[in-house]
Amino acid sequence: MNFGFDNSFYRSMEGFYSPAEAAIPSAPKLLIFNHILATQLGLEAASADDETLARLFSGEVLPEGADPLALAYAGHQFGHFSPQLGDGRALLLGEIVAPDGARFDIQLKGSGPTAFSRNGDGRAAIGPVLREFLVSEAMAAMGVPTTRALAAVATGDRVQRERAHPGAVLTRVASSHIRVGTFQFFAAHYGADHVTQLATYSIRRHFPDLVDTENPPLALLDRVIALQCELIAHWLGVGFVHGVMNTDNVAISGETIDYGPCAFMDRFAGHTVFSSIDANGRYSYGRQPHIMHWNMARFAEALLPAVHAVNPASVDTAKAMVEAIPKRFSGEWLKRMRQKLGFAEAAEGDEVLIDGLFDELEKHQIDFTLFFRGLAMILRGDGMMLENLSPDPEAMAPWIFDWWERVARETDAPLDRADAMDAINPLYIPRNHKVEAALASAEAGDLAPWTELLDVVRNPYVERAEWQDYAVPAPADAGPYTTFCGT
Ligand code: AMP
Ligand code: MG
Repeated sequence: MNFGFDNSFYRSMEGFYSPAEAAIPSAPKLLIFNHILATQLGLEAASADDETLARLFSGEVLPEGADPLALAYAGHQFGHFSPQLGDGRALLLGEIVAPDGARFDIQLKGSGPTAFSRNGDGRAAIGPVLREFLVSEAMAAMGVPTTRALAAVATGDRVQRERAHPGAVLTRVASSHIRVGTFQFFAAHYGADHVTQLATYSIRRHFPDLVDTENPPLALLDRVIALQCELIAHWLGVGFVHGVMNTDNVAISGETIDYGPCAFMDRFAGHTVFSSIDANGRYSYGRQPHIMHWNMARFAEALLPAVHAVNPASVDTAKAMVEAIPKRFSGEWLKRMRQKLGFAEAAEGDEVLIDGLFDELEKHQIDFTLFFRGLAMILRGDGMMLENLSPDPEAMAPWIFDWWERVARETDAPLDRADAMDAINPLYIPRNHKVEAALASAEAGDLAPWTELLDVVRNPYVERAEWQDYAVPAPADAGPYTTFCGT
């Protein structure tokens, strides 16, 4: 298989990474290969057999043209600065350029220790690998910017966590792996010249339209903030809780990255947390916009030496940009919520209506995902679905009355509004109880439930009778759902 690597980071960013090698797996076996994605990337994998793919995507065989390396980065973890993190369990093989000209990193995750592994083993267990594969494919299908999953390979080795698990390697595709924490690392250890070099590389690679701006690092800050506002509004719109929004897990490309203890909400509750290590709810559903703001303040701090080097007066502008984030985010959020509620136009009072919705959803413990599909059904003259979402069929009636009055003022016909809503409000998400059952089967050697679930979440919008079971929340007595870190 010919990747046609073109490794710009390796070539031009010496000192920003450490060359590394993959560990040799004892018995690599292909779990899944994403042929659709491979084709989009222009990788000619169709003729490769499973054995060849397993060797390549476990790290056993180094593809031609690869320059394997581990990236250096730092990061604020749960609010505390760790000056030295870096790819401790990941290996960047190189970059490819897709037929449409877009550049992507091809990275192995779980392929053994690197210079940045500290006390870790550099390995990944099959459960978290398949969770990342599934959830990132679901996010992509829902139009949320995200890294992608190209392959998952079982290594044949055991990985010791709280107990031993089968090991696996995930191949991740990202428009780059440059993180807020990458900037923090070079700001903390080296200073303005390195930060400027990283900013220049990032701008050329991701945002070439900013090259000729007056103060490119300042323009970079502005763009990354814009993308983060959009991204978090998107997350909230699909009920996604990332779980570890540390600054090392924030990609400057605006893609969702590092799927660890992430999960989707069933019944709406603003304080929802799934991660076992997030005891204080720092990264709960409803705090994600606030944490994004906090993370962008850290990004601004790291960029400041480069901003200052171009023009000291721009430092105040950077400060103002960070202060304006809540307002900017609200704009994105309102835009997304209007779409979800079937409003093509903006009207006064929308904000009050939307705030009221979240109070009602929480009070009546309504399933977040199904609620929006139920609303669209009302436009089709069928209120049953919504009534069935709560033990009290009248629970949401007053709010729905207000919404009905509002949506009636739209120009488009109700049936068109309903179709527009269904085209962006997913019916099928990775439901926690389904994910858990699929991962348990996979760990025991049966991939079939996981493969079926993958098929479902890759097609989130159009209802299929045979998938009815995938569109219902966990039983009410299922108890709280907990996720664990550690790929
Ligand atoms: P994450 O939880 O993915 O945000 O990772 C935080 C940091 O811990 C990163 O620098 C990872 O590379 C590192 N890390 C996590 N798990 C391992 C592991 N099993 N072996 C080595 N490093 C790890
Ligand atoms: Mg990480």
